[in-house]
Amino acid sequence: MTLKINRFIVSVGLTVLAAVLRIWPLQALGSILVWLTFYPAVMVSAIYGGLSAGLLAVGLACFTAIFLGPLLVDESFIKTTADWIGLAVFILNGTLISSIAEAMRRANAHARQAQAQAEMSNQAKSVFLANMSHELRTPLNAILGFSNLIGQSPGLSADQRQITDLINRSGEHLLALINDVLDMAKIESGRLSIDKAPFNLANLARDVINLAQVRAEEKNLELLLDQSADLPQLVHGDAAKLRQVLINLVGNAIKYTDHGSVILQIRCRPEDDPHRLWLILTVEDTGIGIAETDRERIFEPFVQLSQISQHTLQKGTGLGLTIARRQIELMGGQISVDSTLDQGSRFRVEIPVERVDETVIFPTATNRARVIGLAPGQPEFRILIIEDQQENWLLLQRLLEGVGLTVRVAVNGLLGVEAFQAWRPHFIWMDIRMPVMDGLEATQRIRALEGGRNVKIAALTASAFKEERDRITAAGMDDFIRKPYQIEDIFDCLTRHLDIHFLREESVADTAPTPTADRMSEALADLPDQLRQELNDALVNLDSEQIDQAICRIAELNPHLAGQLKHDADQLAYTAILRLLNIDANDSTDEVRHE
Ligand code: ADP
Repeated sequence: MTLKINRFIVSVGLTVLAAVLRIWPLQALGSILVWLTFYPAVMVSAIYGGLSAGLLAVGLACFTAIFLGPLLVDESFIKTTADWIGLAVFILNGTLISSIAEAMRRANAHARQAQAQAEMSNQAKSVFLANMSHELRTPLNAILGFSNLIGQSPGLSADQRQITDLINRSGEHLLALINDVLDMAKIESGRLSIDKAPFNLANLARDVINLAQVRAEEKNLELLLDQSADLPQLVHGDAAKLRQVLINLVGNAIKYTDHGSVILQIRCRPEDDPHRLWLILTVEDTGIGIAETDRERIFEPFVQLSQISQHTLQKGTGLGLTIARRQIELMGGQISVDSTLDQGSRFRVEIPVERVDETVIFPTATNRARVIGLAPGQPEFRILIIEDQQENWLLLQRLLEGVGLTVRVAVNGLLGVEAFQAWRPHFIWMDIRMPVMDGLEATQRIRALEGGRNVKIAALTASAFKEERDRITAAGMDDFIRKPYQIEDIFDCLTRHLDIHFLREESVADTAPTPTADRMSEALADLPDQLRQELNDALVNLDSEQIDQAICRIAELNPHLAGQLKHDADQLAYTAILRLLNIDANDSTDEVRHE
């Protein structure tokens, strides 16, 4: 309503301004070009206010010229027939201008409405996807979690183990598909964002190789990792995306290769800016290759070269390379492919990353040895699970009770708040979507209660969207774990927030020194103290250059030992070397160790 009145006010204002101009500074013009003075007022009024405002300006201009003119100026604006024709042309043109402006305004309004609608439907698509992913991930969590648990039980027959393995793998494949489709949707709606943090490049590469190893072995392929010696240990970048890209490329290379090898090669290239560098990652296979005409096409969504896919056992979604390319571009990099049919392909990825000051010690990679219990001498830890879905809380309850934690379950937020008041747990696992009261509200209520600020709360969420994570943090939760989770994630999260220590299973071979380890520890003990200290410091500081230097110096005294150390250092078995350096009789016989 105000907008409507505004347009008329603007129209009147502009016409009055034009009239004042004409009557005062332009009076000397007399009746010459009267209408030209008013055209700008008509045009601006029509563009701003549409047909009605434009016509009002035309009407006011005519009124001024015909009736007010003679009263205010000496020489009337309209005297001759030509002046009257000019008036008629002005009215006609003014009406035309106003109509065109109105048409433009309407088209504009339609476009804005269509855009708003598109945004709304995009929003609706995102909500739908978030919900769908939640619904799919929740049961998948139970499938993966329970098959994992069953797979770990000792009394399984070979047959049963194979079946649980199959369930697990199928579940993981399904999860990969869900993630692909979701990633694609996120890319389409522009929601994919970069999450940078320092990460260990060698660990990431090794993880990718470890993950792909089983499949390479199944196909009798050689899977190799080739890293240049000048690679920095830590870089700053989006590790999760880089990992996904590499898993994808290495996975494809194995999928489309029947004989020979797959090599993941990592090199770096310095940039002008000393704080930055380019990572050059290539994945080379000796597989079926890609025809030249298809090399660009394979990066398009859902493109699968049909003659190839028919022969492969593991069918994909045809989205892998599309997602990889978009992720690489988002990180500021690029991907290209080079291939010869029937000989193999070579995918090359270049990504800019930032250097990290390697003197800062970052926590070493989590030890993945299985948690088998609580370290002795610790107080009771009360853990509350607030989760409505039985398959989910049952899984978590089994896991936690299995290692000796005291667990209670509440099946909705309200019961959870009551359980907190009555039982005072140390830690709460909080589901987000629950009937009666959701996890966000339950957290806020608990935080408002006496003692509610001290309890650690971690969300268990199946949502893949960052907004949900932001809401989780805003509600006052300390952490979150994404479903489906790995068993390790649960224990890692508890370790992050509680002063809790777990016992981990370590194979005898890992801890008890093997004859080689025995010999190595003896040889290490024979080294000069200063050199031992130097190696020790280099390992503790994760300083690969310093480690190499120390090993070089050891090589002058004991080349055999140096060779062994170099091998272990290349495998990043720093902890093992440290243990050998400080080896004492008690450590060597322990089968379990405190985290
Ligand atoms: P998919 O899920 O089918 O693997 P991608 O987007 O990852 O989807 O790959 C698209 C297509 O590109 C594949 O279907 C395959 O035909 C071809 N392709 C990808 N990587 C290779 C490779 N290393 N060797 C031969 N062909 C490949």
